[in-house]
Amino acid sequence: MSTISKIEKFRVPPRWLFVRVETSDGIVGWGESTLEGHTEAVEGAIQDLTERFIGADPSNIEDIWQTAYMGRFYRGGPVLMSALSGLDIALWDIKGKKLGVPVWQLLGGKLRDRVKVYGWIGGDNPSDVVAAALERKEQGFTAVKMNGTDAASWIDSPDILRGTVDRVKQVRQIGMDVGVDFHGRLHKGMAKQLARLLEQCQPLFIEEPLLPTQPEEIADLSNAVSTPIALGERLYTRHDFRPYLERRAIDIAQPDVC
Ligand SMILES: [Mg+2]
Repeated sequence: MSTISKIEKFRVPPRWLFVRVETSDGIVGWGESTLEGHTEAVEGAIQDLTERFIGADPSNIEDIWQTAYMGRFYRGGPVLMSALSGLDIALWDIKGKKLGVPVWQLLGGKLRDRVKVYGWIGGDNPSDVVAAALERKEQGFTAVKMNGTDAASWIDSPDILRGTVDRVKQVRQIGMDVGVDFHGRLHKGMAKQLARLLEQCQPLFIEEPLLPTQPEEIADLSNAVSTPIALGERLYTRHDFRPYLERRAIDIAQPDVC
């Protein structure tokens, strides 16, 4: 039986963390555990997984996942789930290499030949926004994503929101579709105003209009605007997604692979 013989982690600046898993029969798989700003914490969690799963059969991916997830008193959350994702992705890589097929074949086969993507452009500085969007356009993108606002006070000047609308308008005027990421920076009072003001620009979606700890408030906001709501990069399990789905609060689920 092939066993997991080595689990290593590699930091790649400025913020990535990769996991390399090696089996006793010499197959190597790679996974990603990036949790920017908390690399050391994730490394500690990977160390724990390493001690537990050296010697395990790498083909039992689901068994390893469930044992890692349920085998201790605490579960879920960004640190533990990012560490587990790195191991999980690496084990899928190993299985694909062992069977001689790409992992997507093991996950149900091909569904699409093309997928629409957007390019990130930042978006805090008005003069940079158009230049950055034009650069993306030249690269062939038809859509970009940009920041909504900087951090703002609980109730701040409406001028902050006007600035955001102006920047989004400028990018729309060069013929690009725009997603606007609020990053949960605004409190509810300001966020619902901005969401309403942005409707005239017809964004593709607004992302994390509030912090992902507020499913009820996000559901209220979702009912108050016509713009699609995107959210999910700070949810770590289906249990975390559940309140959003139950409330029909989001239109686009954005699970973060790692
Ligand atoms: Mg985001």
